[in-house]
Formats: sequence, C-alpha cells, structure tokens
Amino acid sequence: MSQPPRPRTSSTIPPILQQTSRIDSSENPEIMSDDEVEVQHGKGVTWRDGYRVPLIRLRFNDLCDEGSSVILGSGLNIHDVLVEAVVGVLDALYTPETAPKSVRSVTLIVRSMDGVAYTTGMDIDDDHKEIHFSTDYIAGVHERSKGKQDRQEILGVIRHEMVHCFQYNAFGGANGGLIEGIADWVRYKGGFRPPHWHRGGGDEWDDGYEKTAYFLLWLEDQYGPETVPRINGWMKNRRYSDKLFVELFHEKPDELFKKYKKWCEDHKDEKSAEVCGSGEDSPASGGEGSGASSPHGDGDDHSYVEVSGPREESSVSEVKLVARDRLCKLTYDGTGSFKRFLNSFEGLIEVLDSKMSDKERKLLLVTALNGNALAWLDNIDPEDEMEYSEIKIILEANTSVSYKS
Ligand SMILES: [Zn+2]
Repeated sequence: MSQPPRPRTSSTIPPILQQTSRIDSSENPEIMSDDEVEVQHGKGVTWRDGYRVPLIRLRFNDLCDEGSSVILGSGLNIHDVLVEAVVGVLDALYTPETAPKSVRSVTLIVRSMDGVAYTTGMDIDDDHKEIHFSTDYIAGVHERSKGKQDRQEILGVIRHEMVHCFQYNAFGGANGGLIEGIADWVRYKGGFRPPHWHRGGGDEWDDGYEKTAYFLLWLEDQYGPETVPRINGWMKNRRYSDKLFVELFHEKPDELFKKYKKWCEDHKDEKSAEVCGSGEDSPASGGEGSGASSPHGDGDDHSYVEVSGPREESSVSEVKLVARDRLCKLTYDGTGSFKRFLNSFEGLIEVLDSKMSDKERKLLLVTALNGNALAWLDNIDPEDEMEYSEIKIILEANTSVSYKS
C-alpha cells in the first residue's frame, strides 16, 4: 500500500497469522485498490461525533449457549455498545481528522471458545475486523459474580478488542505488551475497569494489559493528555523500537517505569486515588456500565477476583486462539505453493506449541491436506506409516503438478 499503513489487528498476532491477501479491485468495483487507502463511504458506514463508524455486524453461533443468554439478557443494546466502542476508541486515540478510515466492517462473533476474546481480520480482507467473544467466559463471569459484573465485563472486553481494530502497531511489529497496554488504557478511560485491576503491578513496563495501562496512565499524568495518542501515532509509519520513548519523552521505557514504580511506592497509601492524578479519569459507574456495584467497591473485589486468574492467563494466549483459528482454516489441496503452506503451518504450530511432537504435527498436517494432496498422500502412504518429517520432505520435493496427475 502507498503511504499511511492501515491499522492492523493486534500486533501480538505474528505476521504469519495476519491476512494480507486482497481482492483484485478491477474485478469488483466495491473493493478499492491499495492506493485508495481511505474508505470514506460504503455500505453501513455512519458518522457519529465526526468519526466514521464502519459497518457493524453481530453473529451468535449458538443462541442456546448459556453465554449467549447472558449477553442477550444483560439489557445492553449491542448495536449501541459497538458503535460507542468505535467512537470511544477513536476519540481516545485520534481526532476526527486523524482517525483511520480504512476499516470496512467490525463483526462481533459470540461463540464458544477458550479464553476471553480476540480480534482478527477476516480471511478475505484484513480491513474487515472480527471480534471473537467467548460465551464460556462470559457465562463464567455471570456465575461467579451472580450477574453483577456481566454488563461491565461485556463492555470492557468489547472496548479492549475494539482498540485492536483501530490502533497502529508499527507494521505488525510493535511490542505486544504495549499494544495490550494501550487497549486496556482505553478500556480504563472508557470507565470499564474491572474491580481486580490495581495500579503498581508488573515488573517490566511492557508486562501488558492493565499493568502497562497503569504505567501509561502515569505517563499521561507526567506528559499530558496527548501522551497515549502520541505513542499510538508514532507507530503509524515506523518500525517498532524502544526509541519511541526516547523520542517522545527523552527517556528509556525502563527508566520511566522505575520512576513510575517509585511513584506508586510513594503513593501506595492513597487507596482512593486509583488514577495517577486527575480525578476525571475515574471509571464511570453510571450509564452503560452501571447495574454492577461500584468498580471501586473493595467488598466486591473478592467476588470477582477469580476472574482475574483465567482472564490474565487466557489474555496471554490471545495469540494462540488466533493461531488455532487460522490453523483450522488452513488447508492445502495440492494447488499453489506447498512451501508457503508449510511456512504458515509450521509458524502456527510454533505459536500454538513449539514443543509439539512429530506425531501430533503429522496428525494436524494430514488433517490440513485435502483434494489432490490428500489423494497423493493416500497413494504413497496407504498404511499411514510415514513420519512427519518424511511426508514434509517428499511434499516439499514435489511441485503442484505432481499431485494433479
Ligand atoms: Zn488484546
């Protein structure tokens, strides 16, 4: 693409998992070419507070799923929640003038899966974003909090994931902890802080999620309200490096983090001051997020603290969820480059489980083959005796022509 790179999905998603294929615009006038980066108009596009809101879509994979009932029974208007999330994210990171206009659609897919949620681009075009939200997770939140945290958590998770739809990530190479920290910073600013979040956590500045979000809140307090938009903007058209902090704040991130930790230590008795400094940032408890107890309520911390375990754990595996999803979709039918298929296949395995046994790798590889490639394998290994490495070598040595014969 020419100049402004489109915001990609979470940069925690390795490049190999990022979809880059695009439809030829000459065959479909609806699809713009790479040179036409800004999609100003389009089906379903609306404008809100000066921001362009792309087509918003919703899919429940199973309405009978308990988690689906939790979302539908939460009383939230999902359309409004998604539109407000788009505008909230854009307003936190951009102005109407600087906001990226390349995202064509955002689809919320509510389905049963491990983890909490993740965001990815659709196979057909990375500018069509998909937010996958776990029904198992929200059903668990509902059970543990007896329904008290449903709304706050639905709003918070959607706000976090929506950031990944619109944030810059230095061509996919940004520090993952920073990317997740910005997402939780926006979530915090939106007023959707879960009760178990507290400032001062983390050993490194880029531990990610709320740990980095609180560091960003402190930075903002030191350097002004444009701090995080500037960090995000820096990653628009540069390769990532920690120089970002030196350029913007004249100090290395580790040094800044030390100062932040000292600040937290010096202010640890100020329990009420969750935000470093200004009170205007305190999480909103009214409006869309209400219904639950006050996010500050200490008494509720315990009822909800269980959620922090699985959430943190599964947040780390956001990349793995995407990898698993991609692996499910990855197939090879004998046409096209086997090398490219194998690179993707092994890259995904690497993300999922780098220590996976050859036996398991073989199982997954064979599952991914179909059409001529599978027929070819059946032919050369009818007894299913070959090792993964053998199959790989033989497949690599063959051209696609061989499978077609
Ligand atoms: Zn995330």
